[in-house]
Amino acid sequence: MTSLSPRPLVLMYHGVDHVPADRDPYGMFVTPAAFRAQVEQLLESGFVPVSEDAYLAALAGGPALPRKAALITFDDGYVGVGEHAVPVLASFGLPSVLYVPAGLVGGASVWLEPRHRHLLMAGEDLVAVHRSGMAVAAHGFDHQDLTTLSAADLRRHTTEARAELEALLGEEVRTFAFPYGTHDARVREAVRAAGYRAAFAVHDGAGDFAVPRVDVNATDSMLSFRLKLRRSYPALRRALGRAPAVRRMAHDLLSRAPGDEHGESSLAGAR
Ligand SMILES: [Zn+2]
Repeated sequence: MTSLSPRPLVLMYHGVDHVPADRDPYGMFVTPAAFRAQVEQLLESGFVPVSEDAYLAALAGGPALPRKAALITFDDGYVGVGEHAVPVLASFGLPSVLYVPAGLVGGASVWLEPRHRHLLMAGEDLVAVHRSGMAVAAHGFDHQDLTTLSAADLRRHTTEARAELEALLGEEVRTFAFPYGTHDARVREAVRAAGYRAAFAVHDGAGDFAVPRVDVNATDSMLSFRLKLRRSYPALRRALGRAPAVRRMAHDLLSRAPGDEHGESSLAGAR
């Protein structure tokens, strides 16, 4: 777990766009309307979205974060994030962080099957969203699982990825998000040695270089989203993952909520 106390809520989004389910089998894309409703819910629930700057300052012993701090993050850099999420965030004046594979800027999510690939922002798009208040940081080089790489390749995905993004943005790139959320002691150390100040995982945390995040995806209803804002959610998710009977019960509960057909899968969802 992170050394920050109280621990901020770290939300992990992927895409924000209108994508039909058959082109998004992993449920990575939330609709622009759902995204707006979730941001409104986050604020109504008393959360205070904080910037990467504020997060890192607190981590370095500077001003503490608000009690209900939230860090809003996006992985991969899909074009819809620039088109749909940025205007919503800008309308509320909210900061966020975008994690992009440095070697796929202006490309596509080539790590997915061809028919499930989506376009990623070009360099000029990243510069524009960065100007609007979205920090841009590193998500490896071309989205490989870092735990499978040789030492030389690991350097490319950490040190060189950082240098390339810094050349594009003209400023220091300070945080990292692990592709697939996978990490081990060796890759955490490589990320630290490359000069990053913090790194984000998905469910499995390990200190400030693998901070867990809460995954928000296409299967979320407002009910499951509200559940994910609770401090108890990570423990609940782990409990559900271990106990099929509890998972069925949660499914029954959630599927009774109006408009929620996918509560259980969103609780279990990990990618
Ligand atoms: Zn990713």
